[in-house]
Amino acid sequence: MTVDLPAQAVTAGAVPEVCARHGQPATRRRRTVFRSYTPKWAYVLLLFGVLPFAIVAAVLQKRVKAPTWPFCADCGRLRTRRLLIGVGLVVLAVVGVVALSALLAPNDSTAGPIVLVFVLLLIAGLGVASTAGNGPLASGHVSNDGSIVHVRRAHDRFAEQVAALQPGPQPHQAYPPYPQAGPPQYPPYPPAAPQYGPPPQYGPAPQYGPAPQAWPDQAQGDQPR
Ligand SMILES: [Zn+2]
Repeated sequence: MTVDLPAQAVTAGAVPEVCARHGQPATRRRRTVFRSYTPKWAYVLLLFGVLPFAIVAAVLQKRVKAPTWPFCADCGRLRTRRLLIGVGLVVLAVVGVVALSALLAPNDSTAGPIVLVFVLLLIAGLGVASTAGNGPLASGHVSNDGSIVHVRRAHDRFAEQVAALQPGPQPHQAYPPYPQAGPPQYPPYPPAAPQYGPPPQYGPAPQYGPAPQAWPDQAQGDQPR
C-alpha cells in the first residue's frame, strides 16, 4: 500500500520507528532526501536537447529532507546489493568497451552494435546504483506540489505508525447516545376521569327585599346614543 506523510512531519522528524519496506525496528536513522518525479510533459523538452530538459526538471523538482529516516538491517543489505549490482554493471561496461577496442580491428563493422550494448549496460548500471540512495531505498517520492511524501509498498506496521502520528480528530470519539426512536409515549386513553371534590355546600338562599317597582327617573343625557 502507499502511505502518505505530510512533508512538514517528515521535515520535523515525526516519522515511524520502523522501516517503511520491512516494518522492522530501525537499526539506523539516516538523513534522507525525497524527490518528486519529473512531470511527463517535461520529457517533450528532450526534443530540444538534454540541457533544457535538465534545467526544467531541476527547477520543477520538489525536495523534502528528512533529518532522520528509519532503516533496518535488511534495508542496509538491499542497499549494498543494489550498489554492487549497479557498480558491477558500470565496471563491466567500461571494461567491455576497453577490451573490445583492443580486440577488434578499427574498421570492424560489428563494433557499433556491441558498443551500443555496453552503453545501455552503463546506463542500466547507473540506474540501479541510483536506487541505492536513501530516498529510493525507502520507496518514497514527493508529490508534485511538494506537500506530501508518498511511500510506496509500505509495510503494514509502518502504515499503522504513520496513522498514529497523524494529528486530528480521534476516530472513536464518544458521542452521546442517540435517542431511541421508539413509539411516542402517550398518556393512557381514555384519560382518567378528573377527581371532583364534593359538591359545594350552598348556604340558604339570600333573602332579597321586595323588587323595586320602577327605575328611578333618569336624565335624558345618560341615555346611550
Ligand atoms: Zn527495512
